[in-house]
Amino acid sequence: MTQKKSIKIGIMGGTFDPIHNGHLVTAEEALVQFKLDKVIFVPAGQPPHKEVRKSLDSVERYLMTVIATASNPDFEVSKIEIDKEGPSYTIDTVREFREIYGDEAEIYFITGADAILEIITWRDAKKLAKMCKFIAATRPGYCLKKFKELHVIPNENKEPEPGKLKVYIMEIPALAISSTDIRHRVLHGYSIKYLMPEGVANYVLKRKFYR
Ligand code: ATP
Ligand code: MG
Repeated sequence: MTQKKSIKIGIMGGTFDPIHNGHLVTAEEALVQFKLDKVIFVPAGQPPHKEVRKSLDSVERYLMTVIATASNPDFEVSKIEIDKEGPSYTIDTVREFREIYGDEAEIYFITGADAILEIITWRDAKKLAKMCKFIAATRPGYCLKKFKELHVIPNENKEPEPGKLKVYIMEIPALAISSTDIRHRVLHGYSIKYLMPEGVANYVLKRKFYR
């Protein structure tokens, strides 16, 4: 009898304001390195950890994410968070995917090294640890040493102690690209070519975002 292989999915949460090649390279690298069946991009509705600046309308961020991922058959975009009123918490999002894909599914939450540091300090971190594993991608300017000091288990072959998050550290080709920098570039009239898919760059300019 052939054994049924359980599905492996990656969840890539973000504000995606706008989505850029740093996000896409991270997702692709996780897909390949962790042999995931697919990566689901989840644009945030009202990000609870980002109150400083009002982000672009969630529908627009969703559309840009769709444009950016359209050509990749292993990438999907979910409206789960943008369809909700108010802020969404990662724990609720992961729980919903768990319900959709079942107990057997392996769920990996993919983040950059900066974002994982935030997650570790969340109130729900322990509950979250029971629901999924984490992949933290290296990101220029963020120190992984700091992160190891937080007693995270950076070893793929070792089970974490109960209550500790299982975090896989993933080396990716360093891309010093951020949405913040892209927004600045647009504001100051600098080029955003090659930092993100052409379709997204064209959409940003056409809709006169970030001016
Ligand atoms: P902002 O500058 O507005 O914070 P951002 O570029 O950090 O935007 P987010 O939408 O905040 O993008 O990030 C979503 C996820 O992608 C986070 O987990 C973040 O760490 C990760 N990420 C973003 N840019 C990169 C990059 N260049 N390399 C690796 N990971 C990245
Ligand atoms: Mg960010």
